[in-house]
Amino acid sequence: MDLNGKVALVTGASKGIGREITLSLIKEGAMVAINYRNDEEGANKTLKLVNEIGGNGFIVKGDVASYDNCVSMYNECIKKFGKLNILVNNAGISKVGLFMDMSMEDINSLIDTNLKGAINLTHAVLPHMVSRREGSIINISSMWGNVGASCEAIYSSTKGGVNLFTKALGKEMALSGIRVNAIAPGVINTSMNSFLSSEEKLALEEEIPMGKFGEGKDIGDLVVFLASNKSKYITSQVITVDGGYL
Ligand code: NAD
Repeated sequence: MDLNGKVALVTGASKGIGREITLSLIKEGAMVAINYRNDEEGANKTLKLVNEIGGNGFIVKGDVASYDNCVSMYNECIKKFGKLNILVNNAGISKVGLFMDMSMEDINSLIDTNLKGAINLTHAVLPHMVSRREGSIINISSMWGNVGASCEAIYSSTKGGVNLFTKALGKEMALSGIRVNAIAPGVINTSMNSFLSSEEKLALEEEIPMGKFGEGKDIGDLVVFLASNKSKYITSQVITVDGGYL
C-alpha cells in the first residue's frame, strides 16, 4: 500500500476515526494535513503522534460547513505540500433523538456538517485533482446511511446523501482519473458513542455478529487501501465495515 510522496487531507482529525485514519496514512508514507475545527489540543495530540512515528503532518484549522473555510484549507495544503492526492471527508456530528423533537438548528448543523461539509471540500479540491488527472476521495459515511436508524432520521439522511453523492460523483469523475468511494462504518469505539451507558454498550455488542465495536484503525486500514493503487479499479462504491451488523 505504498503511499510514499502522496498528500492527504483528513477532516475532523483531532480525535476518533479521523486521528486513526491520519496515523494509518502516515504509516504508509503519506504526508497528511490534519484538519480540526475547535479542538486545537486534540489536533496537536494527533500531530504529536504523527511526529512520534517520524511522519510528516501539519495542522489546518477550518469548519467544513463553511465553503470559504474549505477553500482556505485547500490553499493551505497546496502552499505547504504543493499538491493534494487524497481527500478524506471524515468530519461529522451525530444527534440522537426523536425527529419531531429536533430543533431546526440541530437539523441544519447535521446537514451542513455531514453532507454539505463533504460537498464543500470536494468542490474546493476537485479542479486541482482534475488538472493532475489523479485523486482519491474517500467519504466517511455510516451504515445508517444504508438502512436508516430510528432516532437518527436526519443523521441517516445526511449519510444516505453522502452515499449517493459518492456513487454519482464517482461515475462523473471516472474518466478524469479521480476515484470516489465511501466507507460506511458500523459502531466504532469513539467519543461519538460515549452517550451510551455500559448496559447499552453491552446490549449493542450482543447485536453485532463479531460481538464487539470496531476500532478507528479498522476504518484507517480501508482508507489506506482505497487511497492506494491497489484499489485502482474501484470507484463509486460504499463499503460497509460493521462486524456483520447489517
Ligand atoms: P468524533 O466525534 O470522535 O470525531 C468527529 C470529528 O469531526 C471531531 O474531530 C470533530 O471536531 C470533527 N468535526 C465535527 N464537525 C466539524 C466541522 N464542521 N468541521 C471540521 N471538523 C468537524 O466522531 P468519530 O466517531 O470519529 O466520527 C468520524 C466520522 O465517522 C463521522 O463522520 C461519523 O459520522 C462517522 N461514523 C462514526 C461512527 C461511530 O460509531 N463512531 C459510525 C459510523 C460513522
